[in-house]
Amino acid sequence: MRIVFIGPPGAGKGTQCKRLLELLGIPHLSTGEMLRQVKRQDTALGRWVASYLDAGQLAPDHLVMRIVAQRLQRPDCREGCLFDGFPRNLSQAELLDDHLAELEMGLDLVLDLHVVEEELIHRLLRRAKIESRMDDNYDTIKARLRVFYTQTAPLLEYYQRKGLLCRVDGMVGPDQVFAQIKQAVLDRMSERVEKKA
Ligand code: AMP
Repeated sequence: MRIVFIGPPGAGKGTQCKRLLELLGIPHLSTGEMLRQVKRQDTALGRWVASYLDAGQLAPDHLVMRIVAQRLQRPDCREGCLFDGFPRNLSQAELLDDHLAELEMGLDLVLDLHVVEEELIHRLLRRAKIESRMDDNYDTIKARLRVFYTQTAPLLEYYQRKGLLCRVDGMVGPDQVFAQIKQAVLDRMSERVEKKA
């Protein structure tokens, strides 16, 4: 299964991705992690990537797509993967669709972990306090959420139109959230089996 996991900062995406990966045993394609790896290299590319990451800006779409495409070539991705943090905007979603079409592959499911903005701010402020992250104050949190709502949220309609979107209520406890995710995956798996039959 090829799954895209979308969720704003503070929605609990990290925890749920981890559980889903354990359940399905598919590779985790986190573009944040991949870009941090590139940033650590002492190369011109590493320094270029660092300039985006350090400013909290999105890295250029074609660069991110190239890194993802390289990762998709590895044999472990043949059976599926979990895209985490990618695509981040409409242009990346279109690049991914084109690339998967070239590989004669497609997406099976897009999970939208939904939590209302007020609760996200509350959770992020609480986390900043517990982890003593002084850089995470009300203004920076609002700025990160703005990036999500302006750039990433339009993807939800894009995938809804393609019949891939499944909304998960992220306002309940972690176990209840995961139960919804498991059900969504199971439903999609059965639909695939029915289509093949
Ligand atoms: P994350 O770990 O997903 O929060 O990503 C950390 C940082 O990596 C982001 O703030 C962006 O600067 C960059 N990044 C991660 N994923 C993408 C992406 N799909 N497109 C562009 N930049 C990204």
